[in-house]
Amino acid sequence: MNIFYNSAKAFLPRIDAIYLQTRALALTTLVGWLVLGFVPPEKRALSEMILAAFVLHFIALLALARRKKGHTNKLYLAAVILDSVAIFVWIGFDSGLDSPFYVGLYLIVSFASYLLTRRAAIVTTSLISVAYIAILWPELRTLHDWLSLSLRLSPCWVFLAVISHVAEHLHRSEGRMLNLFDTLNRRTSELEKIQAQLESIYDNSRILAGILDVNEVIKAVMQIVNSVLKYPAAALLMRQGEAGFLYRGRVVEGEINLLLKSAPEDSVGLLHGVSKLGSPVSIPNVLNRDDYTALRPDTRSVMMAPMTVRRKTLGILVAESTVVGAFSERDEKMFWVVARSAAMAIDNSLVHQEMEELTITDDLTGAFNYRYFTDKLEEEQRRASRYNQPLSLIMLDIDHFKKFNDTYGHESGNLILRELSRVAYGCVRDTDIFARYGGEEFAIILPQTSLSEAKQIASRIRESIEKTRFLVGEGLPRQTVTVSVGLTSFPENGKSHEDLIQLADQALYRAKGSGRNVVQVI
Ligand code: GH3
Ligand code: MG
Ligand code: MG
Repeated sequence: MNIFYNSAKAFLPRIDAIYLQTRALALTTLVGWLVLGFVPPEKRALSEMILAAFVLHFIALLALARRKKGHTNKLYLAAVILDSVAIFVWIGFDSGLDSPFYVGLYLIVSFASYLLTRRAAIVTTSLISVAYIAILWPELRTLHDWLSLSLRLSPCWVFLAVISHVAEHLHRSEGRMLNLFDTLNRRTSELEKIQAQLESIYDNSRILAGILDVNEVIKAVMQIVNSVLKYPAAALLMRQGEAGFLYRGRVVEGEINLLLKSAPEDSVGLLHGVSKLGSPVSIPNVLNRDDYTALRPDTRSVMMAPMTVRRKTLGILVAESTVVGAFSERDEKMFWVVARSAAMAIDNSLVHQEMEELTITDDLTGAFNYRYFTDKLEEEQRRASRYNQPLSLIMLDIDHFKKFNDTYGHESGNLILRELSRVAYGCVRDTDIFARYGGEEFAIILPQTSLSEAKQIASRIRESIEKTRFLVGEGLPRQTVTVSVGLTSFPENGKSHEDLIQLADQALYRAKGSGRNVVQVI
Protein backbone atom coordinates (compact mmCIF):
# COMPACT_ATOMS: atom_id res chain seq x y z
CA MET A 1 0.00 0.00 0.00
CA ASN A 2 1.24 3.42 -0.82
CA ILE A 3 1.25 5.61 2.25
CA PHE A 4 2.78 8.68 0.62
CA TYR A 5 1.40 10.91 -2.08
CA ASN A 6 3.40 10.64 -5.22
CA SER A 7 5.61 13.67 -4.93
CA ALA A 8 8.34 12.80 -7.38
CA LYS A 9 7.18 15.76 -9.42
CA ALA A 10 5.37 18.53 -7.60
CA PHE A 11 4.70 22.19 -7.82
CA LEU A 12 2.89 22.55 -4.48
CA PRO A 13 4.97 23.79 -1.47
CA ARG A 14 7.58 21.18 -0.82
CA ILE A 15 7.10 19.23 2.37
CA ASP A 16 10.72 19.69 3.41
CA ALA A 17 10.34 23.46 3.53
CA ILE A 18 7.24 23.25 5.76
CA TYR A 19 8.82 20.58 7.88
CA LEU A 20 12.11 22.34 8.38
CA GLN A 21 10.41 25.61 9.31
CA THR A 22 8.11 24.04 11.92
CA ARG A 23 10.96 21.97 13.33
CA ALA A 24 13.23 24.96 13.61
CA LEU A 25 10.45 26.67 15.57
CA ALA A 26 9.91 23.65 17.81
CA LEU A 27 13.63 23.30 18.38
CA THR A 28 13.99 26.94 19.39
CA THR A 29 11.13 26.55 21.88
CA LEU A 30 12.68 23.40 23.35
CA VAL A 31 16.11 24.93 23.68
CA GLY A 32 14.54 27.98 25.31
CA TRP A 33 12.64 25.69 27.65
CA LEU A 34 15.83 23.90 28.67
CA VAL A 35 17.92 27.05 28.96
CA LEU A 36 15.31 28.86 31.02
CA GLY A 37 15.45 25.96 33.49
CA PHE A 38 11.90 24.71 33.32
CA VAL A 39 13.23 21.15 33.43
CA PRO A 40 13.77 19.66 36.85
CA PRO A 41 17.44 18.57 37.33
CA GLU A 42 16.65 14.83 37.43
CA LYS A 43 14.96 15.01 34.00
CA ARG A 44 17.57 17.21 32.43
CA ALA A 45 19.87 14.45 31.09
CA LEU A 46 17.06 12.65 29.31
CA SER A 47 15.64 15.90 27.97
CA GLU A 48 19.05 16.77 26.61
CA MET A 49 19.40 13.36 25.00
CA ILE A 50 16.05 13.72 23.29
CA LEU A 51 16.99 17.20 22.22
CA ALA A 52 20.33 15.93 20.87
CA ALA A 53 18.53 13.20 18.85
CA PHE A 54 16.12 15.86 17.63
CA VAL A 55 18.98 18.12 16.52
CA LEU A 56 20.83 15.28 14.77
CA HIS A 57 17.72 14.26 12.95
CA PHE A 58 17.11 17.87 11.99
CA ILE A 59 20.66 18.27 10.64
CA ALA A 60 20.39 15.01 8.66
CA LEU A 61 17.18 16.20 7.09
CA LEU A 62 18.58 19.62 6.38
CA ALA A 63 21.57 18.07 4.58
CA LEU A 64 19.37 15.73 2.58
CA ALA A 65 16.89 18.43 1.68
CA ARG A 66 19.78 20.62 0.53
CA ARG A 67 21.19 17.91 -1.70
CA LYS A 68 17.64 17.04 -2.83
CA LYS A 69 18.70 13.44 -2.99
CA GLY A 70 15.86 11.13 -3.89
CA HIS A 71 12.89 10.61 -1.66
CA THR A 72 13.10 11.98 1.83
CA ASN A 73 9.60 10.67 2.59
CA LYS A 74 10.83 7.78 4.71
CA LEU A 75 13.00 10.13 6.68
CA TYR A 76 9.97 12.32 7.33
CA LEU A 77 8.04 9.29 8.54
CA ALA A 78 10.94 8.49 10.86
CA ALA A 79 10.71 12.10 12.00
CA VAL A 80 7.01 11.70 12.78
CA ILE A 81 7.74 8.60 14.87
CA LEU A 82 10.72 10.20 16.59
CA ASP A 83 8.73 13.35 17.31
CA SER A 84 5.89 11.31 18.77
CA VAL A 85 8.24 9.33 20.99
CA ALA A 86 9.99 12.54 22.09
CA ILE A 87 6.73 14.29 22.92
CA PHE A 88 5.35 11.33 24.84
CA VAL A 89 8.56 10.90 26.81
CA TRP A 90 8.47 14.61 27.51
CA ILE A 91 4.84 14.54 28.60
CA GLY A 92 5.60 11.49 30.77
CA PHE A 93 8.46 13.25 32.44
CA ASP A 94 6.63 16.51 32.69
CA SER A 95 3.35 16.97 34.45
CA GLY A 96 1.30 14.34 32.57
CA LEU A 97 -2.18 15.51 31.78
CA ASP A 98 -1.24 19.04 32.77
CA SER A 99 1.89 19.12 30.56
CA PRO A 100 1.53 21.69 27.77
CA PHE A 101 3.63 19.57 25.41
CA TYR A 102 0.53 17.96 24.00
CA VAL A 103 0.46 20.91 21.53
CA GLY A 104 3.44 19.22 19.86
CA LEU A 105 1.02 16.46 18.88
CA TYR A 106 -0.93 18.93 16.77
CA LEU A 107 2.22 19.70 14.82
CA ILE A 108 2.90 16.01 14.30
CA VAL A 109 -0.67 15.24 13.23
CA SER A 110 -0.76 18.24 10.88
CA PHE A 111 2.53 17.24 9.34
CA ALA A 112 1.50 13.58 9.01
CA SER A 113 -1.84 14.63 7.45
CA TYR A 114 0.00 16.60 4.81
CA LEU A 115 2.72 14.02 4.26
CA LEU A 116 0.73 10.77 4.33
CA THR A 117 -2.30 9.55 2.50
CA ARG A 118 -5.60 9.97 4.35
CA ARG A 119 -5.66 6.37 5.49
CA ALA A 120 -2.08 6.43 6.76
CA ALA A 121 -2.76 9.75 8.50
CA ILE A 122 -5.82 8.26 10.28
CA VAL A 123 -3.72 5.31 11.44
CA THR A 124 -0.99 7.68 12.68
CA THR A 125 -3.49 9.91 14.52
CA SER A 126 -5.16 6.84 16.06
CA LEU A 127 -1.79 5.52 17.24
CA ILE A 128 -0.92 8.91 18.69
CA SER A 129 -4.31 9.12 20.45
CA VAL A 130 -3.95 5.59 21.86
CA ALA A 131 -0.36 6.31 22.97
CA TYR A 132 -1.46 9.53 24.65
CA ILE A 133 -4.28 7.75 26.46
CA ALA A 134 -1.90 4.91 27.42
CA ILE A 135 0.66 7.32 28.86
CA LEU A 136 -1.97 9.19 30.85
CA TRP A 137 -3.94 6.09 31.79
CA PRO A 138 -2.94 6.07 35.49
CA GLU A 139 -4.07 9.70 35.80
CA LEU A 140 -7.45 9.25 34.15
CA ARG A 141 -9.77 8.81 37.06
CA THR A 142 -12.55 11.33 36.91
CA LEU A 143 -14.87 12.36 34.15
CA HIS A 144 -13.13 15.71 34.25
CA ASP A 145 -9.83 14.01 33.41
CA TRP A 146 -11.45 12.27 30.44
CA LEU A 147 -12.98 15.53 29.34
CA SER A 148 -9.67 17.39 29.48
CA LEU A 149 -8.06 14.49 27.59
CA SER A 150 -10.69 14.57 24.87
CA LEU A 151 -10.40 18.36 24.72
CA ARG A 152 -6.68 17.93 24.03
CA LEU A 153 -7.06 15.13 21.57
CA SER A 154 -10.01 16.40 19.55
CA PRO A 155 -8.01 19.17 17.78
CA CYS A 156 -5.70 16.37 16.52
CA TRP A 157 -8.70 14.87 14.72
CA VAL A 158 -9.88 18.23 13.52
CA PHE A 159 -6.40 18.95 12.10
CA LEU A 160 -6.35 15.50 10.58
CA ALA A 161 -9.77 15.98 8.94
CA VAL A 162 -9.08 19.47 7.59
CA ILE A 163 -5.47 19.08 6.53
CA SER A 164 -5.79 15.64 4.99
CA HIS A 165 -8.91 16.76 3.12
CA VAL A 166 -7.11 19.81 1.79
CA ALA A 167 -3.92 17.84 1.11
CA GLU A 168 -5.79 15.12 -0.71
CA HIS A 169 -7.60 17.67 -2.81
CA LEU A 170 -4.39 19.53 -3.50
CA HIS A 171 -2.48 16.42 -4.42
CA ARG A 172 -5.26 15.27 -6.71
CA SER A 173 -5.41 18.68 -8.41
CA GLU A 174 -1.66 18.69 -8.56
CA GLY A 175 -1.71 15.28 -10.25
CA ARG A 176 -4.24 16.53 -12.77
CA MET A 177 -2.30 19.71 -13.39
CA LEU A 178 0.93 17.78 -13.82
CA ASN A 179 -0.79 15.51 -16.34
CA LEU A 180 -1.99 18.58 -18.18
CA PHE A 181 1.49 20.01 -18.14
CA ASP A 182 2.84 16.74 -19.47
CA THR A 183 0.32 16.75 -22.30
CA LEU A 184 1.05 20.39 -22.97
CA ASN A 185 4.78 19.71 -23.04
CA ARG A 186 4.30 16.77 -25.36
CA ARG A 187 2.08 18.78 -27.69
CA THR A 188 4.47 21.70 -27.64
CA SER A 189 7.42 19.53 -28.55
CA GLU A 190 5.34 17.85 -31.28
CA LEU A 191 4.41 21.28 -32.61
CA GLU A 192 8.02 22.38 -32.46
CA LYS A 193 9.00 19.29 -34.42
CA ILE A 194 6.32 19.96 -37.02
CA GLN A 195 7.34 23.60 -37.22
CA ALA A 196 10.96 22.60 -37.75
CA GLN A 197 9.85 20.14 -40.44
CA LEU A 198 7.70 22.78 -42.13
CA GLU A 199 10.53 25.31 -42.05
CA SER A 200 12.82 22.71 -43.51
CA ILE A 201 10.28 21.81 -46.21
CA TYR A 202 9.77 25.49 -46.98
CA ASP A 203 13.51 26.08 -47.30
CA ASN A 204 13.93 22.99 -49.43
CA SER A 205 10.96 23.96 -51.64
CA ARG A 206 12.63 27.27 -52.35
CA ILE A 207 15.78 25.42 -53.30
CA LEU A 208 13.68 23.06 -55.44
CA ALA A 209 12.16 25.97 -57.32
CA GLY A 210 15.63 27.09 -58.35
CA ILE A 211 16.69 23.75 -59.84
CA LEU A 212 16.25 23.64 -63.59
CA ASP A 213 17.18 20.06 -64.34
CA VAL A 214 14.34 17.61 -63.82
CA ASN A 215 16.63 14.83 -62.58
CA GLU A 216 18.17 17.17 -60.05
CA VAL A 217 14.69 18.17 -58.86
CA ILE A 218 13.74 14.51 -58.36
CA LYS A 219 16.97 13.88 -56.47
CA ALA A 220 16.31 16.87 -54.21
CA VAL A 221 12.74 15.70 -53.54
CA MET A 222 14.03 12.27 -52.53
CA GLN A 223 16.53 13.98 -50.24
CA ILE A 224 13.75 15.98 -48.54
CA VAL A 225 11.62 12.87 -48.05
CA ASN A 226 14.62 11.03 -46.67
CA SER A 227 16.17 13.63 -44.40
CA VAL A 228 13.21 15.79 -43.34
CA LEU A 229 10.27 13.41 -43.27
CA LYS A 230 12.47 10.38 -42.53
CA TYR A 231 10.22 7.70 -44.00
CA PRO A 232 11.75 4.23 -44.26
CA ALA A 233 10.96 4.07 -47.97
CA ALA A 234 9.63 6.49 -50.56
CA ALA A 235 9.35 6.85 -54.30
CA LEU A 236 8.54 9.39 -56.96
CA LEU A 237 6.52 8.14 -59.89
CA MET A 238 5.89 10.22 -63.00
CA ARG A 239 2.97 9.72 -65.32
CA GLN A 240 3.98 8.07 -68.51
CA GLY A 241 1.52 9.06 -71.20
CA GLU A 242 -2.05 8.17 -70.32
CA ALA A 243 -1.40 4.55 -69.54
CA GLY A 244 1.27 4.08 -66.94
CA PHE A 245 3.65 5.37 -64.31
CA LEU A 246 7.40 5.43 -64.30
CA TYR A 247 9.61 5.22 -61.20
CA ARG A 248 11.96 8.19 -61.40
CA GLY A 249 13.34 8.23 -57.86
CA ARG A 250 13.41 5.89 -54.94
CA VAL A 251 14.80 5.96 -51.41
CA VAL A 252 14.97 2.87 -49.26
CA GLU A 253 16.66 2.98 -45.85
CA GLY A 254 18.41 6.24 -46.66
CA GLU A 255 19.76 5.11 -50.00
CA ILE A 256 18.61 7.28 -52.88
CA ASN A 257 18.62 6.14 -56.45
CA LEU A 258 17.26 7.67 -59.60
CA LEU A 259 15.86 5.04 -61.85
CA LEU A 260 13.67 4.64 -64.85
CA LYS A 261 11.42 1.68 -64.38
CA SER A 262 7.77 1.20 -65.17
CA ALA A 263 5.49 0.80 -62.16
CA PRO A 264 4.26 -2.79 -61.85
CA GLU A 265 0.96 -3.48 -63.63
CA ASP A 266 -0.87 -4.29 -60.40
CA SER A 267 -0.08 -0.89 -58.84
CA VAL A 268 -1.14 1.20 -61.82
CA GLY A 269 -4.87 1.11 -60.99
CA LEU A 270 -4.29 2.44 -57.49
CA LEU A 271 -1.89 5.13 -58.74
CA HIS A 272 -4.45 6.23 -61.32
CA GLY A 273 -7.08 6.33 -58.57
CA VAL A 274 -4.99 8.69 -56.44
CA SER A 275 -4.16 10.75 -59.48
CA LYS A 276 -7.85 11.12 -60.33
CA LEU A 277 -8.83 11.84 -56.72
CA GLY A 278 -6.32 14.69 -56.59
CA SER A 279 -5.72 14.45 -52.84
CA PRO A 280 -3.56 12.28 -50.59
CA VAL A 281 -4.53 8.76 -49.64
CA SER A 282 -3.15 6.43 -47.00
CA ILE A 283 -3.59 2.69 -46.67
CA PRO A 284 -3.19 1.47 -43.07
CA ASN A 285 -2.21 -2.05 -44.08
CA VAL A 286 -1.20 -3.25 -47.53
CA LEU A 287 -0.31 -6.76 -46.43
CA ASN A 288 -3.38 -8.41 -47.88
CA ARG A 289 -3.83 -6.11 -50.85
CA ASP A 290 -2.87 -7.18 -54.32
CA ASP A 291 -3.15 -3.74 -55.93
CA TYR A 292 0.12 -2.39 -54.60
CA THR A 293 3.71 -3.62 -54.87
CA ALA A 294 5.74 -2.26 -51.95
CA LEU A 295 9.30 -0.96 -52.13
CA ARG A 296 10.26 -2.99 -49.05
CA PRO A 297 9.17 -6.50 -48.16
CA ASP A 298 8.26 -5.44 -44.60
CA THR A 299 6.10 -2.47 -45.62
CA ARG A 300 2.77 -2.28 -43.82
CA SER A 301 1.29 1.16 -44.39
CA VAL A 302 1.50 3.33 -47.46
CA MET A 303 0.74 6.99 -48.13
CA MET A 304 0.37 8.52 -51.58
CA ALA A 305 0.14 12.17 -52.57
CA PRO A 306 -0.55 13.40 -56.09
CA MET A 307 1.99 15.83 -57.52
CA THR A 308 -0.47 18.30 -58.94
CA VAL A 309 0.31 21.60 -60.57
CA ARG A 310 -1.95 23.79 -62.69
CA ARG A 311 -4.72 21.15 -62.32
CA LYS A 312 -2.46 18.59 -63.92
CA THR A 313 -1.13 15.57 -62.02
CA LEU A 314 2.46 14.98 -63.05
CA GLY A 315 2.91 11.94 -60.86
CA ILE A 316 2.58 10.45 -57.40
CA LEU A 317 4.80 10.68 -54.35
CA VAL A 318 4.72 7.51 -52.27
CA ALA A 319 5.90 6.89 -48.69
CA GLU A 320 5.98 3.57 -46.90
CA SER A 321 6.23 2.56 -43.26
CA THR A 322 6.88 -0.77 -41.62
CA VAL A 323 4.25 0.05 -38.98
CA VAL A 324 0.54 -0.60 -39.51
CA GLY A 325 -1.47 2.66 -39.71
CA ALA A 326 1.65 4.81 -39.41
CA PHE A 327 0.33 7.79 -41.35
CA SER A 328 -1.95 10.35 -39.76
CA GLU A 329 -4.03 13.01 -41.45
CA ARG A 330 -1.32 15.49 -40.52
CA ASP A 331 1.34 13.35 -42.22
CA GLU A 332 -0.84 13.25 -45.34
CA LYS A 333 -1.16 17.05 -45.34
CA MET A 334 2.56 17.55 -44.87
CA PHE A 335 3.36 15.00 -47.57
CA TRP A 336 0.97 16.75 -49.92
CA VAL A 337 2.80 20.03 -49.39
CA VAL A 338 6.03 18.30 -50.42
CA ALA A 339 4.29 16.63 -53.39
CA ARG A 340 2.91 19.94 -54.65
CA SER A 341 6.26 21.70 -54.23
CA ALA A 342 7.85 18.83 -56.14
CA ALA A 343 5.21 19.11 -58.87
CA MET A 344 5.81 22.84 -59.16
CA ALA A 345 9.58 22.38 -59.38
CA ILE A 346 9.30 19.53 -61.90
CA ASP A 347 6.87 21.55 -64.01
CA ASN A 348 9.21 24.50 -63.81
CA SER A 349 12.17 22.43 -64.94
CA LEU A 350 10.15 20.87 -67.79
CA VAL A 351 9.06 24.32 -68.99
CA HIS A 352 12.67 25.45 -68.79
CA GLN A 353 13.78 22.40 -70.77
CA GLU A 354 11.13 23.14 -73.41
CA MET A 355 12.27 26.74 -73.63
CA GLU A 356 15.85 25.65 -73.99
CA GLU A 357 14.85 23.28 -76.77
CA LEU A 358 12.88 26.03 -78.43
CA THR A 359 15.86 28.32 -78.41
CA ILE A 360 18.14 25.72 -79.98
CA THR A 361 15.76 24.22 -82.52
CA ASP A 362 14.14 25.44 -85.65
CA ASP A 363 10.35 25.79 -85.45
CA LEU A 364 9.56 24.52 -88.91
CA THR A 365 11.74 21.44 -89.17
CA GLY A 366 12.61 20.63 -85.54
CA ALA A 367 16.29 20.49 -86.56
CA PHE A 368 18.86 22.39 -84.46
CA ASN A 369 19.16 26.06 -85.40
CA TYR A 370 22.12 27.94 -86.85
CA ARG A 371 23.33 29.30 -83.50
CA TYR A 372 23.35 25.85 -81.89
CA PHE A 373 25.05 24.42 -84.97
CA THR A 374 27.95 26.88 -84.90
CA ASP A 375 28.44 26.48 -81.12
CA LYS A 376 28.36 22.74 -81.43
CA LEU A 377 30.73 22.63 -84.41
CA GLU A 378 33.27 24.70 -82.51
CA GLU A 379 32.95 22.38 -79.50
CA GLU A 380 33.19 19.19 -81.57
CA GLN A 381 36.14 20.51 -83.57
CA ARG A 382 37.99 21.29 -80.31
CA ARG A 383 37.19 17.83 -78.95
CA ALA A 384 38.30 16.13 -82.16
CA SER A 385 41.57 18.01 -82.16
CA ARG A 386 42.19 17.25 -78.44
CA TYR A 387 41.52 13.52 -78.76
CA ASN A 388 42.91 13.18 -82.26
CA GLN A 389 39.67 11.98 -83.71
CA PRO A 390 38.15 12.59 -87.12
CA LEU A 391 35.18 14.92 -87.61
CA SER A 392 33.14 15.45 -90.74
CA LEU A 393 30.78 18.17 -91.88
CA ILE A 394 28.06 17.82 -94.49
CA MET A 395 26.23 20.76 -96.07
CA LEU A 396 23.24 20.21 -98.31
CA ASP A 397 21.09 22.52 -100.37
CA ILE A 398 17.84 21.72 -102.14
CA ASP A 399 18.12 21.92 -105.90
CA HIS A 400 15.93 24.49 -107.63
CA PHE A 401 13.87 24.98 -104.54
CA LYS A 402 12.67 28.32 -105.74
CA LYS A 403 10.77 26.46 -108.47
CA PHE A 404 8.61 24.63 -105.91
CA ASN A 405 7.83 27.83 -104.09
CA ASP A 406 6.95 29.58 -107.31
CA THR A 407 4.80 26.71 -108.62
CA TYR A 408 2.96 25.51 -105.51
CA GLY A 409 3.40 28.34 -103.06
CA HIS A 410 5.38 28.94 -99.92
CA GLU A 411 3.28 26.53 -97.79
CA SER A 412 4.07 23.65 -100.15
CA GLY A 413 7.73 24.62 -99.93
CA ASN A 414 7.45 24.36 -96.15
CA LEU A 415 5.92 20.88 -96.46
CA ILE A 416 8.93 19.81 -98.52
CA LEU A 417 11.38 21.34 -96.02
CA ARG A 418 9.74 19.48 -93.14
CA GLU A 419 9.57 16.13 -94.90
CA LEU A 420 13.10 16.47 -96.27
CA SER A 421 14.40 17.15 -92.77
CA ARG A 422 12.69 14.03 -91.51
CA VAL A 423 14.20 11.89 -94.30
CA ALA A 424 17.71 13.30 -93.85
CA TYR A 425 17.50 13.04 -90.07
CA GLY A 426 16.55 9.38 -90.44
CA CYS A 427 19.85 8.74 -92.23
CA VAL A 428 22.13 10.07 -89.48
CA ARG A 429 23.10 8.62 -86.11
CA ASP A 430 21.95 9.81 -82.68
CA THR A 431 25.33 11.33 -82.04
CA ASP A 432 25.25 13.41 -85.24
CA ILE A 433 23.97 16.97 -85.12
CA PHE A 434 21.46 17.77 -87.81
CA ALA A 435 20.83 21.50 -88.20
CA ARG A 436 19.02 23.90 -90.49
CA TYR A 437 21.81 26.17 -91.69
CA GLY A 438 19.44 28.65 -93.26
CA GLY A 439 16.63 28.81 -95.88
CA GLU A 440 16.72 25.46 -97.63
CA GLU A 441 20.25 24.58 -96.56
CA PHE A 442 21.09 22.00 -93.93
CA ALA A 443 24.32 21.12 -92.14
CA ILE A 444 25.24 17.89 -90.38
CA ILE A 445 28.10 17.53 -87.91
CA LEU A 446 29.41 13.97 -87.77
CA PRO A 447 31.69 13.51 -84.74
CA GLN A 448 34.26 10.70 -84.83
CA THR A 449 33.50 10.12 -88.49
CA SER A 450 36.17 9.81 -91.16
CA LEU A 451 35.86 11.21 -94.65
CA SER A 452 35.01 7.83 -96.21
CA GLU A 453 32.31 7.08 -93.61
CA ALA A 454 30.88 10.57 -94.07
CA LYS A 455 30.79 10.07 -97.82
CA GLN A 456 28.64 6.97 -97.37
CA ILE A 457 26.27 8.81 -95.08
CA ALA A 458 26.08 11.79 -97.47
CA SER A 459 25.30 9.48 -100.39
CA ARG A 460 22.69 7.69 -98.33
CA ILE A 461 20.98 11.00 -97.57
CA ARG A 462 21.09 12.13 -101.16
CA GLU A 463 19.66 8.82 -102.39
CA SER A 464 16.93 8.68 -99.74
CA ILE A 465 15.78 12.17 -100.69
CA GLU A 466 15.87 11.37 -104.36
CA LYS A 467 13.70 8.31 -103.75
CA THR A 468 11.14 10.13 -101.65
CA ARG A 469 7.96 11.44 -103.23
CA PHE A 470 7.16 14.71 -101.51
CA LEU A 471 3.65 15.89 -100.76
CA VAL A 472 3.12 19.49 -101.84
CA GLY A 473 -0.58 19.77 -101.12
CA GLU A 474 -3.92 17.98 -101.08
CA GLY A 475 -4.77 16.57 -104.52
CA LEU A 476 -1.48 17.66 -106.04
CA PRO A 477 0.96 15.15 -107.57
CA ARG A 478 3.81 14.19 -105.27
CA GLN A 479 7.13 15.71 -106.27
CA THR A 480 10.70 14.51 -106.62
CA VAL A 481 13.25 16.65 -104.85
CA THR A 482 17.01 16.42 -105.10
CA VAL A 483 19.81 17.87 -103.05
CA SER A 484 23.39 18.80 -103.72
CA VAL A 485 25.79 17.82 -100.97
CA GLY A 486 29.18 19.22 -99.99
CA LEU A 487 31.41 17.39 -97.60
CA THR A 488 34.67 17.98 -95.77
CA SER A 489 36.56 16.35 -92.93
CA PHE A 490 38.91 17.17 -90.12
CA PRO A 491 41.87 16.73 -89.78
CA GLU A 492 42.49 16.22 -93.53
CA ASN A 493 40.91 19.57 -94.45
CA GLY A 494 40.77 22.76 -92.45
CA LYS A 495 42.10 23.40 -89.01
CA SER A 496 39.34 25.52 -87.48
CA HIS A 497 35.55 25.24 -87.44
CA GLU A 498 35.34 28.30 -89.70
CA ASP A 499 37.62 26.52 -92.21
CA LEU A 500 35.34 23.48 -92.11
CA ILE A 501 32.24 25.53 -92.89
CA GLN A 502 33.98 27.34 -95.69
CA LEU A 503 35.30 24.11 -97.24
CA ALA A 504 31.97 22.28 -96.98
CA ASP A 505 30.31 25.29 -98.59
CA GLN A 506 32.87 25.24 -101.39
CA ALA A 507 32.21 21.52 -101.90
CA LEU A 508 28.49 22.26 -102.07
CA TYR A 509 29.13 25.02 -104.60
CA ARG A 510 31.07 22.51 -106.68
CA ALA A 511 28.21 19.99 -106.40
CA LYS A 512 25.85 22.65 -107.76
CA GLY A 513 28.32 23.41 -110.52
CA SER A 514 28.68 19.78 -111.49
CA GLY A 515 25.01 19.43 -112.29
CA ARG A 516 23.36 19.07 -108.85
CA ASN A 517 22.03 15.93 -107.08
CA VAL A 518 25.59 14.82 -106.28
CA VAL A 519 27.99 14.62 -103.35
CA GLN A 520 31.22 16.59 -103.63
CA VAL A 521 34.15 16.25 -101.28
CA ILE A 522 36.91 18.70 -100.33
P1 GH3 B 1 19.75 26.03 -106.32
O1 GH3 B 1 19.98 25.99 -104.88
O2 GH3 B 1 19.62 24.69 -106.93
O3 GH3 B 1 20.78 26.86 -107.01
O4 GH3 B 1 18.40 26.70 -106.62
P2 GH3 B 1 17.41 27.34 -105.62
O5 GH3 B 1 16.13 27.63 -106.26
O6 GH3 B 1 17.27 26.44 -104.42
O7 GH3 B 1 18.14 28.65 -105.30
P3 GH3 B 1 18.24 29.54 -104.04
O8 GH3 B 1 19.08 28.88 -103.04
O9 GH3 B 1 18.64 30.87 -104.53
O10 GH3 B 1 16.76 29.67 -103.54
C1 GH3 B 1 16.38 29.31 -102.25
C2 GH3 B 1 14.93 29.53 -102.11
O11 GH3 B 1 14.45 28.90 -100.95
C3 GH3 B 1 14.57 30.97 -101.97
C4 GH3 B 1 13.50 31.02 -100.95
O12 GH3 B 1 12.30 31.48 -101.46
C5 GH3 B 1 13.34 29.59 -100.50
N1 GH3 B 1 13.20 29.49 -99.11
C6 GH3 B 1 14.12 29.83 -98.18
N2 GH3 B 1 13.63 29.57 -96.93
C7 GH3 B 1 12.36 29.10 -97.10
C8 GH3 B 1 11.35 28.67 -96.23
O13 GH3 B 1 11.49 28.68 -95.00
N3 GH3 B 1 10.20 28.23 -96.74
C9 GH3 B 1 9.98 28.19 -98.09
N4 GH3 B 1 8.84 27.73 -98.54
N5 GH3 B 1 10.93 28.61 -98.94
C10 GH3 B 1 12.10 29.05 -98.49
MG1 MG C 1 18.81 25.68 -103.39
MG1 MG D 1 20.21 27.91 -101.12
